[in-house]
Amino acid sequence: MSKRVMNPARTAVVALAAAGLGASVVAGAGSAFAAEGKAPAKALAAAPASAAVAAQAGAQAQAAAKTAAAVKQAAAKAKAVKAKAAKPAKAKKAAWVKPVSRYTLTASYNQGGAMWAHKHSGQDFAVPVGTPVKAAAAGTVVKAGPYGGGDGPAYGNAIVVKHANGKYSQYAHLSKINVHIGQKVGAGQKIALSGNTGNSSGPHLHFEIRNTPNYGSALNPAAFLRTVGVSI
Ligand SMILES: [Zn+2]
Repeated sequence: MSKRVMNPARTAVVALAAAGLGASVVAGAGSAFAAEGKAPAKALAAAPASAAVAAQAGAQAQAAAKTAAAVKQAAAKAKAVKAKAAKPAKAKKAAWVKPVSRYTLTASYNQGGAMWAHKHSGQDFAVPVGTPVKAAAAGTVVKAGPYGGGDGPAYGNAIVVKHANGKYSQYAHLSKINVHIGQKVGAGQKIALSGNTGNSSGPHLHFEIRNTPNYGSALNPAAFLRTVGVSI
């Protein structure tokens, strides 16, 4: 005790040493900090590498995902192609077709005129007499004969075909009828030859789409045909 009192300088030295130590500790801490500071730098330097690895992994994952997607897409495409290939086999012939191949559109639906007591109930296709008339879609013949098959003398020789969608197609002013009532016909099948019979201003096919087999239930045939992918 008395020794310390007697030797204050030493104490100071010790204190200084301690301070120095402290300083060095501080310095150490500082360098440690610096080291720590460096470490993040190193980590940063290393980070790009790991980031690159991560990016690569990500890219690989993405590529794998892409490949998977591509495989999926290819499978879907193949399926679609298969479905497409299967469909035409069934529907190689279009569901609906034009009733004549070459024509000039003359009187259209709802057109007024001296020829009709009411508005025109169908679409007229001007064609030479004897032009093949085709069933616009598959169906069953429900009317076939003179006097519009029962609808009236204005139609001349006419045919009405019932279709699966509930609609009926009518063909009038025919010169020759090739089908009979009850006969099943396919889309595009020749059912008659065009003519100029009945109340007709010249050789043409009068064509109707009806909601029933009978006169008075017609709708716009051009508009209907458009809905089934046929433009005239
Ligand atoms: Zn007509």
